[in-house]
Amino acid sequence: MNAAHYDAVVIGSGFGGSLVAHALVQAGLKTALLERGQWAKRDDADWDQRTILLQKRYRAASPLLVKQYGRRTFQRTYPNEVVGGNSVFFGGASLRLRPADFARWPLSYADLAPYYARAEQLLGVHGEVGTDPHEPPGLTAYPHATVELSAPAQRIYQAGTALGLQPFKIPLAINFSDRTRPLCLRCITCDGFPCKVEAKNDMASTVLATASAAGLDIIVGAVAKRLMQRDGRVEQVEYVDSTSRQTHALSADLVVLAAGALNSPALMLRSGFDHPLIGRFLMRHCNGIANCIFPFRTNPQQVFHKQLCFSDFYEDLRAELGTAVGVIQDIYTPAPPIIRHHAPWGFKTLVGLLTGYMQNLLCISEDDPRRDNRVSLSSEQDIFGMELVQVEHAYSDADCRRRDYLLAKAEAVLRQAGGLLRYRYLIDSFSHAIGTLRCATTPEEGVLDVDCRYWDSENLYVSDGSFMPSSGGVNPSLTIAANALRVAERILEKR
Ligand SMILES: Cc1cc2nc3c(=O)[nH]c(=O)nc-3n(C[C@H](O)[C@H](O)[C@H](O)COP(=O)(O)OP(=O)(O)OC[C@H]3O[C@@H](n4cnc5c(N)ncnc54)[C@H](O)[C@@H]3O)c2cc1C
Ligand code: SF4
Repeated sequence: MNAAHYDAVVIGSGFGGSLVAHALVQAGLKTALLERGQWAKRDDADWDQRTILLQKRYRAASPLLVKQYGRRTFQRTYPNEVVGGNSVFFGGASLRLRPADFARWPLSYADLAPYYARAEQLLGVHGEVGTDPHEPPGLTAYPHATVELSAPAQRIYQAGTALGLQPFKIPLAINFSDRTRPLCLRCITCDGFPCKVEAKNDMASTVLATASAAGLDIIVGAVAKRLMQRDGRVEQVEYVDSTSRQTHALSADLVVLAAGALNSPALMLRSGFDHPLIGRFLMRHCNGIANCIFPFRTNPQQVFHKQLCFSDFYEDLRAELGTAVGVIQDIYTPAPPIIRHHAPWGFKTLVGLLTGYMQNLLCISEDDPRRDNRVSLSSEQDIFGMELVQVEHAYSDADCRRRDYLLAKAEAVLRQAGGLLRYRYLIDSFSHAIGTLRCATTPEEGVLDVDCRYWDSENLYVSDGSFMPSSGGVNPSLTIAANALRVAERILEKR
């Protein structure tokens, strides 16, 4: 097969892929970025909850087969796929891990700290130093100041402080202040939706635009199928055009895999890589939502309020369980059709009517890296002739303990805020998937070395969330972004 040649080919355009591609192209490397999704449309329908959450406008062509919660069979789920990956759907929360979270890592918080600072700059994070009671050291300034709390967030702030807690404003990668770009309209459809006006600082709206202007070839609808290796090097990347279904190849001096923590290990397995830990130690946090029904409308103006975070309980169980507990964050309440859709039979109408009286808090707790939680390949194939990705996952008792601990604390805040009836909703998505190609100091302990290079390959690096050896207790994207900048720097140093 005739293959165009690049200095570097990057696979996947999420935080991990886009930031590496951006750095390589800025350093003068001829770089191509392969992304299986298309550009988000950024029209009215992108803010329509039915279109995005129920009809799944950006649903991937290939399902994931998921077996979880002790079930015996695999169920099909369809992730979203667009240029920019999950950054397009993320809620903007941009928090650093804390020094103790690095206990099982081959690098320390101090190693990553300068890259965190650069990632915060590139992502235009709005935050307030000195307000997080467990703030990591060396955080001296955020690029932008925070904005005032909206009414629903104020309610939570007052309840939290009345309980003696220290709620602080979530550092957000959302453009509230740079007038050279579209400003945030503070709408209710942020977390889980593409931003129609491109005020969310996702990869497609920010980094990829700069990288493309600097010469990055972004090839969309390109499904990477196989990495072709010879003598310990990846020589070519084979991909399928998702529209024409034709197969193409690119040859490269260097390949960076960033297809996300579910797809990157699957691509390695399909390509014949045989490290025994490929796909193992899948983590996704142990998340739940505390919901309360209030005797008044909680957000009549339907304004953005993912603004507050509580880290007060972060270290409460470290001595006993060896991990962080996690954080509690404000989160929006979906529209009545979405709540009705997810409500149990018999309650759908009632719950739909009560939607306007609900307020929620999201609990993000650390989960244990367990060898049996894994990604593997099915014998069933997708429309591109690729084996489907299989995911097997179970939470440990400690995971559930941490989550339930946070849920109880979140419920206390909601009750203090005036909530009456409470309900818990457990999150079963893989939106925080990480860990399936962990980095380590020896090949026995991990798939990647400390620079995130595959141990047995001279020129294959991984820069998405797969590299993380533990999940810590905060949302993962800033850590993925910071590490991608670190990996890019290591690659360039070696050249
Ligand atoms: C609704 C939602 C809200 C979230 N909110 C937050 C938040 O507020 N804060 C936070 O820190 N984190 C949040 N997250 C998590 C965060 O978005 C992810 O952890 C992060 O985006 C993962 O980045 P990544 O680069 O590892 O992978 P991804 O974003 O998954 O990128 C992988 C890319 O590779 C592409 N790809 C996959 N397979 C192939 C292939 N074979 N060929 C070519 N391309 C391929 C995919 O289409 C995708 O674009 C949220 C996630 C979701 C879904
Ligand atoms: S809240 Fe702001 S950044 Fe988020 S989708 Fe709405 S306008 Fe965009």
